[in-house]
Amino acid sequence: MRQHLKTYGIAIAAIAVAVLVRWLLDPWLVDSLPLVTLFVAVAFAAGIGGYAPAVLVAVVGYLVCAYLFIDPRGSLGLDRLGNAVGLITYAFTCVVILLIGDAMRRARTSAAERGELLRVTLDSIGDAVITTDLEGRVTYVNAVAEALTGWSHADALTRPLASVFRIVDEQGREPAENPAIRALREGTVVGLANHTVLIAKDGSERTIDDSAASIRDEQGKVSGCVLVFRDVSEKRRLERQLASRLIDARMLASIVESSDDAIVSKTLEGMIQSWNAAAERLFGYTAQQAVGRHISLIIPPERMAEEDQIVATLREGRRVDHFVTERLRSDGKRLYVSLTISPVKDEAGNVVGASKIVRDVTKQRETEERERGLLADTVAANAKFRALFDQGALFAAILDVDGTIVDPSRPAVEGCGYTRAQVVGKRFWEGPWWTPSPSLVDRIRTATADAAAGKTLRTEMPYFAADAQARTVDITILPVRDDGGRILFLAAMGTDVTERRQLEDDLRTLAADLSEVDRRKNEFLATLSHELRNPLAPLRNMLEVLQRADGDREIVGRAVDTMERQLVQLVRLVDDLLDLNRITHDRIDLRKARVDVRSVIHDVVQAARPITDARGHEVHASMPAEPLHVHADAVRLTQVFGNLLSNSSKYTPGGGVIRVTARRHENVAEITFADTGIGIAPDQLERIFEMFVQVDRPTEGSQGGLGIGLTLANRLVHLHGGSIEAKSAGVGHGSEFIVRLPIATEHGADEPQPPPSTPHTNRAYRVLVVDDNRDAASSLVLLLEIAGHKAARAHDGPSALEAAEKERPEVILLDIGLPTLNGYEVCRRIRARPWGASVMLIALTGWGQEEDRRRSHEAGFDGHLVKPVEYAELMTLLERLDT
Ligand code: ADP
Repeated sequence: MRQHLKTYGIAIAAIAVAVLVRWLLDPWLVDSLPLVTLFVAVAFAAGIGGYAPAVLVAVVGYLVCAYLFIDPRGSLGLDRLGNAVGLITYAFTCVVILLIGDAMRRARTSAAERGELLRVTLDSIGDAVITTDLEGRVTYVNAVAEALTGWSHADALTRPLASVFRIVDEQGREPAENPAIRALREGTVVGLANHTVLIAKDGSERTIDDSAASIRDEQGKVSGCVLVFRDVSEKRRLERQLASRLIDARMLASIVESSDDAIVSKTLEGMIQSWNAAAERLFGYTAQQAVGRHISLIIPPERMAEEDQIVATLREGRRVDHFVTERLRSDGKRLYVSLTISPVKDEAGNVVGASKIVRDVTKQRETEERERGLLADTVAANAKFRALFDQGALFAAILDVDGTIVDPSRPAVEGCGYTRAQVVGKRFWEGPWWTPSPSLVDRIRTATADAAAGKTLRTEMPYFAADAQARTVDITILPVRDDGGRILFLAAMGTDVTERRQLEDDLRTLAADLSEVDRRKNEFLATLSHELRNPLAPLRNMLEVLQRADGDREIVGRAVDTMERQLVQLVRLVDDLLDLNRITHDRIDLRKARVDVRSVIHDVVQAARPITDARGHEVHASMPAEPLHVHADAVRLTQVFGNLLSNSSKYTPGGGVIRVTARRHENVAEITFADTGIGIAPDQLERIFEMFVQVDRPTEGSQGGLGIGLTLANRLVHLHGGSIEAKSAGVGHGSEFIVRLPIATEHGADEPQPPPSTPHTNRAYRVLVVDDNRDAASSLVLLLEIAGHKAARAHDGPSALEAAEKERPEVILLDIGLPTLNGYEVCRRIRARPWGASVMLIALTGWGQEEDRRRSHEAGFDGHLVKPVEYAELMTLLERLDT
């Protein structure tokens, strides 16, 4: 509507312009050509609006111009022929103009429409289009080309194509030949030039495909060219992606195929889809046999439930890692396998299948089982080790290489009274066993460092238990290495050797003592042989004297006196020795009774008189007026006092004084033997009571004796519950021996009455003396015969039996220690004879202890005499036979 209004408006304006121009020209044209300007206006209106406005212009313009400019002016004048012809001519001319103008208008409109169609088309196609004229100047750039080149249509117009469309070779980055230029040059279509990069106005680049074609006009002449191109960056990227995916896929396929693990893929329903070479080897089915089959082909029936679980997990999109299970081979053999199963998803992410990696772990499983067994063994062994470690007697600790205590054994901790907290984590040398002594700490620190450096220490050293007692440990600190020789840890081990050490010390002392005793014993033996020889010499001399005395009574008497004295000396020596033996074996029998010490001293002093007188000693005995009763064996007491008095005399030079004092001091009887003799050095005072001890006095030589007198005296006094003490102000200052004995309670038994004087028997007996010592036997026979008895003798068991059979003696004195048949046996056999029961059998032996007496009694003896037999004792026995 508006278009119409506008068209008609323009038509009316054209009429007005035509009228005005004719009016202006009127002075020159006058009445000629009155309608000339109208033809232009009609043509204009027809060109713009077509028929209707053109007709309007023609009609209205004629009416106005006829009225204004055709004679007669002021009227239409159609009554004039000329005007009527003019009108017809005008109309005809207008029709022609109208037809031509309309045709032109139509042609223009359709051209514009075509142009518009082309533009719209070019703008709307996906490709970029640039057109140029013959010179290669840009005549058109479509929207896509604007976007790709960065040049707007307006900016690009008339610019040389090369500056709008800059391209380089994709690889070489060399400027590429512009296809449009070639198309213009060659007038042909130039095909796609690949691998071209377009550089936009802003410098950005994109890969394009391009082509160009020349434009020819109707005559076929080249008038320009059209360049078509498109951005293929994305396409290229996709292509590249696809290519690399393809490579990936191939690589994956070759990996799968060459993998040592069996790789199998399957649908969720369990249909096998792929089966690699390793799967063929593992399960024994070829891919051909397996693919398309159900996975239950290789699953043991009882394991199918597991498969359902696996599928459920996969459906949730999760994978299953290292699932150890069993599978079946084609030959029926079972395999232990480790499965790793991943879900396979489609592009939309739906799980459509699974890929399984199957690893044969049969061997590994067997190894594991073996290892489990080993582990159990190890645990058991470890438990044993632990028990040993904790319950054994060994101190032990495992130390780090830096000396930190990691694991101590129970004996090392609790055994010493410590707690683990006091020990674990500390350095070994800071352990409570050493800390009380800095020097021990140092030694242990050094030993630990040495062990860490590969050295082993073994030593005995003190250590401290919790009670602060220093004890001794035999300790070893050593490095423990692995097979490669690397030090794994340090071990400290030890044993408490305190007792052993003590024993060793004791043993050492004992050995020293023993060697001292041995030395003394040797000395003693030397002394003994010397002492035995002393009486022998005079005895032999006097025997000679007796042989030559020719019955001279006086000479015989003196000789017998001397011999008797020497014999007493000899018997005393032997008695002492026997006593010593008994006393050391605790086999002394004391026959205790209530004894007055005064009478014992009196007897002792009297008995020693011959010796003391001979040496010119003054002996003073001072005793209390009241009895001094002790509970004692009178014989042994006499022995002790006799010994002390004899020593006083022995070790006091001639003319010295000996004082014997007895007194009561509270409940103790104190008997002192003091002399003015050679005295005793202070360091010897204690020792002189030891066995075989004789004070070494090189200048004075031996005084006689065996060095056992004081030992005996001391032991005997102790057996009586008393004590003996030696005092001396030193060498040359005399000595004093004090015996202390407990006073006897008032009501003790009285001392036995001394035996009556030598007994004698009135009857003559038949006596058989049996002794393998011929002299002993014959001397005894002689003695018996002198006493008026009839005596026979034998020297061994069988001959004794024979003699007994023959002589039928009333008394047999039978030695026990006989060759071939001992005394006990002879006694038994005699007792077995019909006449044997009434015979008096008396044992003769060197052994006089209770035990010996009991044995002889059991064998059937009536009596027991200890050699040398004293005449008086023998007679007492015979007397018993009398009654
Ligand atoms: P011995 O047979 O040598 O006398 P004893 O055992 O009786 O042995 O005495 C040991 C030692 O004690 C003697 O050798 C002697 O040196 C010393 N001794 C004993 N009594 C006296 C004393 N009265 N005066 C000085 N020394 C004495």
